[in-house]
Amino acid sequence: QDIATMTVIEAKAEIDALQQDLKQWAQEYYENDAPSVEDAVYDREYNRLEALEAAYPELVTPDSITQQVGGKATKSDLPKVVHDIPMLSLGDVFSLDELYDWLATTQKSFNTPLSYNAELKIDGLAISLVYENGELIQASTRGDGSIGEDVTANVRQIKRIPKQLNEPISVEVRGEVYMPKAAFVTLNEQRERDGLSTFANPRNAAAGSLRQLDVKVTKQRQLDAFLYAAVDAENTLGVTTQAGLLQRLAELGLPANPTNAVVASEADIAAYINDETATRDELAYGIDGIVIKVNSLAYHEELGNTVKVPRWAIAYKFPPEEAHTVVRDIEWTV
Ligand code: NAD
Repeated sequence: QDIATMTVIEAKAEIDALQQDLKQWAQEYYENDAPSVEDAVYDREYNRLEALEAAYPELVTPDSITQQVGGKATKSDLPKVVHDIPMLSLGDVFSLDELYDWLATTQKSFNTPLSYNAELKIDGLAISLVYENGELIQASTRGDGSIGEDVTANVRQIKRIPKQLNEPISVEVRGEVYMPKAAFVTLNEQRERDGLSTFANPRNAAAGSLRQLDVKVTKQRQLDAFLYAAVDAENTLGVTTQAGLLQRLAELGLPANPTNAVVASEADIAAYINDETATRDELAYGIDGIVIKVNSLAYHEELGNTVKVPRWAIAYKFPPEEAHTVVRDIEWTV
């Protein structure tokens, strides 16, 4: 039904129905690591809900799924960790036109032309790592953004995450834990042989493998990680840009994705997206889009966040047809 011609009562009824579906799917995805619908179905209903809420702001409630990050960590058996600085989601766009609109809106707050850091959107789950005097002392999942699960012992099983940084500094870094495509195929084949349920995709497999009470299970799962953020990066790491932050993380011995570029114009950004889309199947890990971040960290503070997403970054998501091709490719190539 056309939103413009709806009555408030009709809008409320549709919003309630969408909330019910989306909350159930979010629970299956974030808490059980077992989605029952494709991401594209979730995204379509989510976008419809956002459009309805934009047209009827009086119907937006604090418990709406559009106001919440991820799932409830409190439901899992792992110990809980409070995130003093919340771990947020990302706003998303599904076309270059929508991306250009976002660029224009972001630019409005500044007199000088902005530059951006373009990065791969790793298809895994968000992680926060606390280092004290260079030593890894805590690792946690995003959970609902404010309360995550303590996965310190599990993260210690991931070879590429250093237990000791190259310098004795104290910093909280954030990024993504993922399961490489080949490890995902091997794991599902093994589970099939064992008569166990298979994981829907590498993202759910990574989440299910990290959030384990028995760390021996995590150890067998060949997880990997990329880090791309740090809390209060300017003070703790002495960097002023997102691109500089990634370099500094690598210097410290943390895995930072080398495939990133500083871009300024719409044409630069479109070229980066085209190049990375064309070669994504060759990567050893899955990506579900490209993240565009304002490069200046001072501007991140100026732009701030909504309750759910930073205003200084946006995810350009790949169309769902391509996601299907990738899943088939994995099966063919291994
Ligand atoms: P998201 O995964 O769309 O994007 C935000 C996340 O991207 C961040 O939290 C971070 O973990 C990650 N990320 C990866 N690379 C990054 C980089 N370079 N820089 C910054 N962040 C990076 O958001 P979300 O809130 O975690 O999940 C929403 C999405 O999950 C939906 O769009 C949908 O596709 C999927 N989902 C599917 C179902 C389902 O039932 N199929 C249910 C719930 C959610």
